[in-house]
Amino acid sequence: MGEKIFVTQPSMPTFEEYVDAIRPLWDSRWLTNMGSYHKQLEKELKKYLDVPELSLMVNGHMALELAIQAFDFPENSEVITTPYTFVSTTHAIVRNHLIPIFCDVKPEDGTIDETQIEELITEKTVAIIPVHVYGKVCNVEAIEHIAYKYNLKVIYDAAHAFGVKYKGKGIGNYGDASVFSFHATKVYNTIEGGAVAFSDHKLYEKLYNLKNFGIRNEELVVAVGANAKMNEFCAIMGLCNLKYIAQAIDNRKYRYKYYLEKLKRIQGIGFFEEAGQTTKNYAYLPIIVEERYALSRDELYEEFRREDIYVRKYFYPITADEACFRNKYKKDALENARMLSKHVLILPLYEQLEIEQIDRVVQTIQKNSLK
Ligand SMILES: *Cc1c(COP(=O)(O)O)cnc(C)c1O
Repeated sequence: MGEKIFVTQPSMPTFEEYVDAIRPLWDSRWLTNMGSYHKQLEKELKKYLDVPELSLMVNGHMALELAIQAFDFPENSEVITTPYTFVSTTHAIVRNHLIPIFCDVKPEDGTIDETQIEELITEKTVAIIPVHVYGKVCNVEAIEHIAYKYNLKVIYDAAHAFGVKYKGKGIGNYGDASVFSFHATKVYNTIEGGAVAFSDHKLYEKLYNLKNFGIRNEELVVAVGANAKMNEFCAIMGLCNLKYIAQAIDNRKYRYKYYLEKLKRIQGIGFFEEAGQTTKNYAYLPIIVEERYALSRDELYEEFRREDIYVRKYFYPITADEACFRNKYKKDALENARMLSKHVLILPLYEQLEIEQIDRVVQTIQKNSLK
């Protein structure tokens, strides 16, 4: 037993840096409502993510909900999506009064199986919502091709893919919109926050209305919008963290490589495939606990618990099998998604994770492989 090790820990600037940065708010008293820090962060993120347009939001989930809403799909239209994700993806579809049509994923990388999308398309299909799960890039070319052929919108849940590039382009350039999360548990955080990236400039105003009650001026409300604005304290946290993002990703990369070097020698521990032409963000370290490993995934999880190491079963159960969706939507032929959800464990990985802590994690896997 040692001290507790959690699966993640947020990156933060020093206390002094943050306090200095928020000091001006005591003079301006401008705490939210698209203040100057909100505007500045929107601009800087657009540049960092290398995307044409960006709308900053209060969190990733609202960014996803409003991104979907911005396309005005008819009620009860069908959306093809993956069940191998955080529930937010499916919730955002259902909360927009749309029907999730679950497509299986590829066992090699956990992203939506593009070869199974076409057979799920009906005349009610309006969109595809894939997820760059663990920051692994979906087959964006094949998805774009299908979307074009059937005139569908593509909205990527890129919550795990902050800073990822594919073929030299920011990941937010693919599809009609991409949604990022800046939650404390993610690679880059604004405490809570999110953004929608897109290229069609008309969406900017649409999303602005949706995140600010549809208010255009004191006497004019043009849309039935929600409230999903990011406040200035969060925007300032975002500006501070953005300064160090390259270092933060490097620190993750170093730990990720160290883990892999040790883990690849252990029988029965597998890894997802790494896509080519991708600049990674090292957001997560998923391992696959194979059948030939001495313990089941759940038994290994329990062993970790006994050692005070808080690994996570992302994503178990798949969203299609969650209590709130069970028996509501069609959910057969999801073998790969269910198989992965029974075999994957996410190991602790964050900037400040110490090498001795990684050794403790690896030892737990090593020790139990000999049982
Ligand atoms: C974190 C996450 C979200 C939601 O983002 P929040 O900022 O927590 O609201 C959506 N989808 C996926 C895949 C996520 O991991």
